[in-house]
Amino acid sequence: MIKKIIIKPGCISCGTCEVICPNVFEVKQIGTVKKNASLELHKEEIKEAAQTCPVGCIEIEEE
Ligand code: SF4
Repeated sequence: MIKKIIIKPGCISCGTCEVICPNVFEVKQIGTVKKNASLELHKEEIKEAAQTCPVGCIEIEEE
């Protein structure tokens, strides 16, 4: 189960995470995680976004 998503420093605002999973990610100045987003419901897309992020700055905490 995904407990938390951390956007680590280094985001280059490429928009990829939002394209892959717009229910969870929103790219403003940098990529952000939407408040109240259902992480468990979108966990496969979240993992895909984390793997696809060109600078590897999406960290997933699971329990
Ligand atoms: S995919 Fe990574 S670099 Fe691109 S906007 Fe999202 S967090 Fe930032």
